[in-house]
Amino acid sequence: MTYVFQPAPPAAVPVHGGGSSFPVHRIYCVGRNYAEHAVEMGHTGREPPFFFLKPADTVLCVPEGQVGTMPYPSQTQNLHHEIELVVALGAGGRDIPVERAAELIWGYAIGLDMTRRDLQNEMKKQGRPWSIGKGFEHSAPIGPIHAKSATGELTQGAITLDVNGQRRQTGDLRDLIWNVNETIATLSRAWTLAPGDLIFTGTPAGVGAVLPGDTLVGAVAGLGSLQLRIGPVAS
Ligand code: MN
Repeated sequence: MTYVFQPAPPAAVPVHGGGSSFPVHRIYCVGRNYAEHAVEMGHTGREPPFFFLKPADTVLCVPEGQVGTMPYPSQTQNLHHEIELVVALGAGGRDIPVERAAELIWGYAIGLDMTRRDLQNEMKKQGRPWSIGKGFEHSAPIGPIHAKSATGELTQGAITLDVNGQRRQTGDLRDLIWNVNETIATLSRAWTLAPGDLIFTGTPAGVGAVLPGDTLVGAVAGLGSLQLRIGPVAS
């Protein structure tokens, strides 16, 4: 079998501690999964979870202890940060029961679901897909993946985001409306999950805009921190 051109290498995220990389299959994202954030986006109550995807190659890997740079994307005047716990799957399947969902988890990372909010809102208004607001290049900055064998199962702990030293987002993993196991189970009824899938589990309250030159520091208890600078407008 020959390809008509050389395929791109798979998107991959370094594993904490060095030495290996986690190849990315798909990126699933959960919408409105912390109560206070759902309220700030104009919703209330425990709605069924809903999902969108980002292409695998939207990951922007930020190495341990370094400051990554995300070019400010085109076509937006309202680039928002959403700090999220990312779950990395080492196994897949369909119709996974909640009680067995944790068996699929390989590890965890800190991620940012960067969002062109003005474009997303325009698409919402028109009943059109969110892809232009969510699935653009570099829209998924991510730190190294920590193996679950080292961290244990993450079900609680602080999740925060600072911009230029000011706290913008604060939450606790225990406040997820749909916890990680429920999310995996629900996803597996709609898609066939596979090793390499990443799940961005949703963001706590406090989302807001960033500008070129801003520095973001995201943290999740047990996973260290993720540092990102917003670069000049992409050319
Ligand atoms: Mn999000």
